[in-house]
Amino acid sequence: MDREFSCTKIFRFCCAHQLVNTSTEKCKSQHGHSYKLEVTVACNFLINEMVIDFTILKNIVTPFIESVDHKMLSPNSNHVIFQEGNNGFYENHIFPIIQPTAESIVEIAFNSISKQIEKFDEEETKFSGSMRRRTWLKRIKLWEEIDSAFVEIEAK
Ligand SMILES: [Zn+2]
Repeated sequence: MDREFSCTKIFRFCCAHQLVNTSTEKCKSQHGHSYKLEVTVACNFLINEMVIDFTILKNIVTPFIESVDHKMLSPNSNHVIFQEGNNGFYENHIFPIIQPTAESIVEIAFNSISKQIEKFDEEETKFSGSMRRRTWLKRIKLWEEIDSAFVEIEAK
């Protein structure tokens, strides 16, 4: 019987955004969210009774979190609201996304984190009999409104 194990770690970050292509006037204004990101990794069999060490998963996901945390997600990398006049100040505070919806953010997170999980999978090659251990990024769920609205992306 095929089966899989999975583990999920939860991360949080805050950022501001502004949607351009939307019929909702409220979303056209700059505003912020406290996001919750649930990252689920799966495998076909355990090694050391683990899917992945939570500390390793944290190290894999942290660069993405740091790239968006306390940033302005904006289609305009020359966004002036954070400009203080010294060179490059705002460049460090803008995360450029054409349309910074939760769907866009979760897709960027998935692409970035799945590459690191693939690297982990290659480095951690192990066998049980003739079966190769596989580890993959199964799902990322991004809560834009805690406990009321989320989007998710899954490996197919
Ligand atoms: Zn919003």
